[in-house]
Amino acid sequence: LSGKLNGVFDRLRRRGALSEADVSEALREVRIALLEADVALPVVKDLVNKVRERAVGQEVLRSVSPAQQVVKIVNDCLVEALGGGEGVEHVPGLNLNAAAPVAILMVGLQGSGKTTTSGKIALRLRARDKKKVLLASLDVHRPAAQLQLETLAKQAGVASLPIIQGQGPLEIARRAMQVARGELYDVVILDTAGRLSIDEALMDEVAEVKAATRPHESLLVVDAMTGQDAVNTARIFNERVGLTGIVMTRVDGDARGGAALSMRAVTGAPIKLLGAGEKLDALEDFHPDRIAGRILGMGDIVSLVERAAETIDKAEAEKLAAKMQKGQFDLEDYAAQLRQIGKMGSLSGILGMLPGIGKMKAQLESANLDNSILKRQAAIIGSMTPKERRNPDILKASRKKRIAAGSGTTVQDVNRLLKQFDDMSAMMKRMSKLGQKGLMRGGLG
Ligand code: GDP
Ligand code: MG
Repeated sequence: LSGKLNGVFDRLRRRGALSEADVSEALREVRIALLEADVALPVVKDLVNKVRERAVGQEVLRSVSPAQQVVKIVNDCLVEALGGGEGVEHVPGLNLNAAAPVAILMVGLQGSGKTTTSGKIALRLRARDKKKVLLASLDVHRPAAQLQLETLAKQAGVASLPIIQGQGPLEIARRAMQVARGELYDVVILDTAGRLSIDEALMDEVAEVKAATRPHESLLVVDAMTGQDAVNTARIFNERVGLTGIVMTRVDGDARGGAALSMRAVTGAPIKLLGAGEKLDALEDFHPDRIAGRILGMGDIVSLVERAAETIDKAEAEKLAAKMQKGQFDLEDYAAQLRQIGKMGSLSGILGMLPGIGKMKAQLESANLDNSILKRQAAIIGSMTPKERRNPDILKASRKKRIAAGSGTTVQDVNRLLKQFDDMSAMMKRMSKLGQKGLMRGGLG
């Protein structure tokens, strides 16, 4: 996907202005890309129209290439469609503002991750929000389901409703609310049974439980990997049960998350949480901008484009690109990059500006460079002699001690910097091999 888009944007990058034809060409590719990311067709159409409306006729900004402008418009529309955008609270979160006990109803198809997510939410509410949580499994269809939740409750350090054989879902739900009232629980999480596919009996059962327990949150749990099917599931659950939010699981897999866009469009319900693994702490807040980046496959390049337009020094970036190709990147260059990064916000960002590097993003992120560290690193490099900067291999214990003292840091800090520089040089060497062609083309555009 990102390769495809990069191709289009490379082509656009080299033209002077954004014409109607340019926009149309880009959008044709965007359309395919979005479909490949599992966004439902009607949703894609809407989005493409919105982008076209906004893009065509828009004045081409100085120092921003038309391509960059298109990226940004596509991205902005995605973010908005996912419930984000300027001035919008980006993390919807759970709404528990009601008299205790507050019920959370978990619904969804079998295997979507309801039981696991119930455990994750329980853990978070207990550990982070200091809530007294009761977990109750209403799944009487699968033999081991109630025991599964009991085990998760133990792991999460919360209580689970004692299992009584022979009770139906509705009975269990009522008992859970009763116990919660009697024993002063803050939150009751009701984990319902799923089916392999939507059926009437399931909908009736869930609707009944909902009517009896009046949950404050009714969360649909959907597997991000189910792609287009997720839309149908979301629509029907919303019509029959009414949803207050959606949890998308398995975002740790390689699904692009296009389903999030469709589900949001079809139900109007916000995506509230993401499941990112099997472990109980693998629960994340939903950030529209991050998912938009993932769907588009161009990550944080987009947001950086805005800032870069004003601050990036094109000549310096091209110099860097040339050095990277020759494998001559040294600590002087690293320090120069740190200064740029100070203006730009992140390192993966500045490198992301160079074409053909989108695929290296994961590695950039694993280099784990955050801004407080960057300041310290700039100070450390400042305390080195020019010779040391050009040839870090000569840095043995005594020199490190001197540099640490000079920069007000520790030898450990110096070692960390050198390790990071090594990682980065190695990465750049790999990158320059892979991205040779991309880098030759037009630098920053
Ligand atoms: P339920 O039938 O909806 O209750 O689904 P379960 O909670 O039992 O989950 C089904 C399987 O999916 C289990 O093996 C879970 O460990 C796994 N699972 C749930 N959420 C996630 C997630 O976010 N990422 C991954 N990788 N696996 C998950
Ligand atoms: Mg279950």
